[in-house]
Amino acid sequence: MKHEKSVKVYEEAVKYIPGGVNSPVRAFKSVGLSPIFVDHAHGSKIYDVDGNEYIDYICSWGPLMLGHSPKELTEGIEDVIKRGTSFGVPTEIEVEMAKIIVDAYPAIDQVRMVNSGTEATMSALRVARGYTGKNKILKFEGCYHGHSDALLVQSGSGTLTYGVPTSPGVPDDVVKHTLVAKYNDLEDVRRIFREQGNDIAAVIVETISGNMGLVKGKQEFIQLLRDLCTEYGVVLIFDEVITGFRISYNSSPKYFGINPDMVCFGKIIGAGLPVGAYGGKKEIMDVVSPVGPVYQAGTLSGNPLAMHMGKRNLEILRDNPQIYTELERKAIKLEEGIKSNLEKLGLDYTVNRAGSLVCLFFTKGPVESYDDAKKCDIDKFNLYFKELLGRGILVGPSQYEAMFLSNAHTDEDIENTINANYEALKAAHNL
Ligand code: PMP
Repeated sequence: MKHEKSVKVYEEAVKYIPGGVNSPVRAFKSVGLSPIFVDHAHGSKIYDVDGNEYIDYICSWGPLMLGHSPKELTEGIEDVIKRGTSFGVPTEIEVEMAKIIVDAYPAIDQVRMVNSGTEATMSALRVARGYTGKNKILKFEGCYHGHSDALLVQSGSGTLTYGVPTSPGVPDDVVKHTLVAKYNDLEDVRRIFREQGNDIAAVIVETISGNMGLVKGKQEFIQLLRDLCTEYGVVLIFDEVITGFRISYNSSPKYFGINPDMVCFGKIIGAGLPVGAYGGKKEIMDVVSPVGPVYQAGTLSGNPLAMHMGKRNLEILRDNPQIYTELERKAIKLEEGIKSNLEKLGLDYTVNRAGSLVCLFFTKGPVESYDDAKKCDIDKFNLYFKELLGRGILVGPSQYEAMFLSNAHTDEDIENTINANYEALKAAHNL
């Protein structure tokens, strides 16, 4: 497989863009490669500028439940553009979008659109602090909630990949209110609440974390957060930027049977256009300007293009529940195929799966925490990544990212992936 054109574009890119990319993990730096540059993508496939085809499991890191450029979503987009791309005054579709989200997520009464997951979590924290009048927030090791200052502490995703989970450039003063507990560690949570529960405004958590590979919150862990937040008057925020509308149409409240006080969305609600949203009970959302004093705004928030794609995406997911059953069936097939390869090759590694999210950890299981995930053999993962890429399978270029399946992935794609996985594992281990 040749990458000559990609390499050329990359050489030019690094001159003008830090690391040649507009988001760090895209650089393939951690796996010691230069990135592929995409020409176009369709369905489950990405095509790079050298004309190589890949079965894509990055899927824009989650938004593309229906795969790349599905006709159902792109059709009619020219008409939306012709009617105007941004107005600075409200549109009807924003109301329709809010209603769809609130209907799907009965734990919340109101939702405010923003432009990214980062904005959603940052804004939700401000609202929770404004509502409770308290400053401290509690997050968990290995969870990534975007790159706002207060949340870049013991973070996951690219921060973990590049070994800087707590970013320089964030003053100590800013993060002195950020408490960090161990994910899935009930005793650690109890201790922090015992010591500081009365000062905590919000707990923010990925109920299933897709940013340290893939680690599911234990039922009793999420329940404990719910119970302690209720007891101490703390706002419980589910960061559903990855899990929202993916693990089920009704997201975590359905999956766990537990409701948060606030929620953050991104990714799927924009179907690949820049979007985010945060929501909560009316009583909480009433502190948001212009009803209340907590300020949060955005020139492009509720943008008509994003609303058009996102709304259609959600309607399709709502009206076709079989998409979720099919996605899960394919994800199970992939999970079982990889497990069977591991067994055949005598490799004692772990596969975690939740809904249509799958992760192969290069370590013995179980992987239930940040510490567990960090035990992975990264050098072996990096070799595996290269072998897989060479066989036309694109996964995130990091051990700490999950594989995202879309409805466009076919059974044949899954079978080809399982075969490539076998060969790539074999080659990476000289077996
Ligand atoms: N929260 C979670 C759980 C995420 O996974 C991400 C991004 N992957 C974010 C927030 C930030 O979203 P964005 O990249 O759109 O700012």
